[in-house]
Amino acid sequence: MSIFKEIIEGRMPADKVYEDDDIIAIKDIAPKAPVHILIITKKDYSSLHDIPDEELGIIKDIAKVAKTLAEKFSIQEGYRLITNVGPDSGQEIKHLHFHLIGGKKLGSMA
Ligand code: AMP
Repeated sequence: MSIFKEIIEGRMPADKVYEDDDIIAIKDIAPKAPVHILIITKKDYSSLHDIPDEELGIIKDIAKVAKTLAEKFSIQEGYRLITNVGPDSGQEIKHLHFHLIGGKKLGSMA
């Protein structure tokens, strides 16, 4: 079971900044920028690539949550919404999540 499942089920603490029936968002434990939030599906997809086509509507929901949190944390002038997919991307936790990153000049993508 992933760390995120433990957090979703309340067995591990987290700094939660958003929750609805399908999604939670928490502050990243090792932030790469002043604002670094993880938007996590409650359903246990291992990555974006694991979402069946008929369930891709969850991506729209994640985008809405990202917009809401960008306003809440005052980073609407510029942020990144990133998801790592698979080992070559460096994905550490095999439970779908998006990184919402901002609060500084982010520079160019690697
Ligand atoms: P990824 O490499 O895309 O799988 O990203 C995993 C992210 O989860 C990293 O940015 C970690 O810092 C973060 N992380 C790991 N454990 C925790 C935790 N217990 N609470 C919050 N963030 C975590």
